Amino acid sequence: MRRSARIIVHPEAIQHNLNVAKELAPNSKLQSVIKANAYGHGSADTAGIVYEMTDEFAVSCVPEAVVLRDASIDKPINILQGFQNDRDLRIAEQLKLRLTVHDDYQLSLLDNYSSRSGYRFDLNIKIDSGMHRLGFQPERAESLYKKLKAHSQVNPDTLIMMTHFSSADELDNDCTSKQIDIFQKACANINAPQSIANSAGVLGWQGSHADWIRPGILLYGSSPFETKTRDELGLKAAMTFEAPVISVHNLKKGDSIGYAATWTCPKDMRVALVACGYADGYPRHVSSGTPVWLNGEETRLLGRVSMDMIVVGAEGYDEHPVKVGDIAELWGKNLSTDRVAAAGETIAYELLCNAGNIRA
Ligand SMILES: *Cc1c(COP(=O)(O)O)cnc(C)c1O
Repeated sequence: MRRSARIIVHPEAIQHNLNVAKELAPNSKLQSVIKANAYGHGSADTAGIVYEMTDEFAVSCVPEAVVLRDASIDKPINILQGFQNDRDLRIAEQLKLRLTVHDDYQLSLLDNYSSRSGYRFDLNIKIDSGMHRLGFQPERAESLYKKLKAHSQVNPDTLIMMTHFSSADELDNDCTSKQIDIFQKACANINAPQSIANSAGVLGWQGSHADWIRPGILLYGSSPFETKTRDELGLKAAMTFEAPVISVHNLKKGDSIGYAATWTCPKDMRVALVACGYADGYPRHVSSGTPVWLNGEETRLLGRVSMDMIVVGAEGYDEHPVKVGDIAELWGKNLSTDRVAAAGETIAYELLCNAGNIRA
């Protein structure tokens, strides 16, 4: 969709952020998580940006990997949700995709799959260590590993044991240590590499680094923690979301602004209209007062977010008076996604996916 609002992706920021992960976990191999069109940054472009520094890519589903292979990304790709049907297996064979197995129906699909060429799949075995979303129960880890290692359609030398955290973004939550413990016990007699850490694991839980790390959000320069900012973590914004000012005018004390007249001017005020709204992926549910960066300072949202517009304060700009054509930054280098997300009781992940993918 072509609109006045636009997204700019900063390749050097993504590379910088990936290096932050590498420095924290120097002995781990790195999977760059580029699912959901690289959290709105463009999956093929992002794969190109981090290509040399990445050991393997990770996406959610087979169609996402097809996009990458079509763009000539020839490195290993892991499918985090694995395969859903026989067709997925067929494509995975053709495109040489690594698959995650997390459920018994997938074992049956694998048993019944007939490869014409005797292909053996590279597999991750996903263990549910407490997230209770995808994965086999820990008690089954050892027998599943043995079964799959001996399976005629499985590459016995490339099996990886993996699990995923539920609460690693909360640094004082003991769920994470418990999950690591449960996973390690389940894998105690299994001689295979391990993959545990998402971004929060990489940044906050050294004990989770293991053989492979799987950072996503940190690559894009947002903090996975509520209590630590992007800047404190040394991350750089990979996306700037910006839009032009299309009107500047004065309102009187008592004038209300926007749909449902939720905000009323406490005094005579100068305001600016920015051509960006929820149709552009700006979150509709952020509250009045949400920060917006304009002409070198922070201003704030006044009233509700419309489909194509927001109103922001334009007062106090003595040195750089706001005028039509000035560019407002909704988030980016000067204003972190984390602050905007907090104002809308959401997370940076959602903002990036929505604003980025509306343009896809
Ligand atoms: C999305 C995802 C990741 C990356 O998570 P971030 O919090 O973005 O770092 C890692 N592992 C799995 C299984 C995922 O689904």
